[in-house]
Amino acid sequence: MSELDETLADLLAHGRFLSGLSSVGVAPPSAAPVEPPAAAVTGAVATGAADERTDDSAVALTAIREEIGDCRRCKLASGRKTIVFGQGNPRAELMFVGEAPGSEEDEQGLAFVGRAGQLLTDIIEKGMKMRRADVWIGNVLKCRPPQNRNPEPDEILSCQPFLEAQIRAIRPRVLVGLGKFAAHWLLRTAEPISRLRGRLGDHDGIPVMPTYHPAYLLRNPAAKKDVWEDMKTVLGLLGRPVPGPGE
Ligand code: SF4
Repeated sequence: MSELDETLADLLAHGRFLSGLSSVGVAPPSAAPVEPPAAAVTGAVATGAADERTDDSAVALTAIREEIGDCRRCKLASGRKTIVFGQGNPRAELMFVGEAPGSEEDEQGLAFVGRAGQLLTDIIEKGMKMRRADVWIGNVLKCRPPQNRNPEPDEILSCQPFLEAQIRAIRPRVLVGLGKFAAHWLLRTAEPISRLRGRLGDHDGIPVMPTYHPAYLLRNPAAKKDVWEDMKTVLGLLGRPVPGPGE
């Protein structure tokens, strides 16, 4: 069995038991909680005053961040600089989920801020004509794996209640899984991303569009057209117009 298959087998074996637990479904952190990085929750708190629904989501997200605290629940804690909570609109209609923070994300405490992050911004703003600040962007793992290695099953199991709780708090209309790990986690499958992408799936009743990770697009620019096709489907699900060429 491949490492990936083992990862999925582990996750499937554990089912969704973690997500059903109270609060965010994990034991208290071993270290005392610390104040969340301002940048990680600023959007949630600031936008929270806008209306009651937004406020509910912002409050829930702030509680999740407090629950994470100075998390030591998996071995990635020892090598990280910051916990990357994710950021954006607490009532985002659209939520992007990637794999894990990279080095720049680890430095800044923000998701998708490196070159791949800039490409994601372009996809959202230049392609979809949406504001990055209006979506939510996060990862399956909140801490950087050493040398950007693949996430391991125990790390995913330890961290997934936080993402589950974030999805419940934000309640997006559409989820986009960026790359194989996010797509596999959201869809609970081990199918190759090349077969998954472009095919809508489901995560607890929320449509999921699996697509290529922006880091893959940096290495394989020809695949951008596939991602654009996927984003057009997402725009359709959101009831938004699909910009034409040159718009
Ligand atoms: S990856 Fe998740 S579970 Fe592991 S230490 Fe970081 S926040 Fe905690």
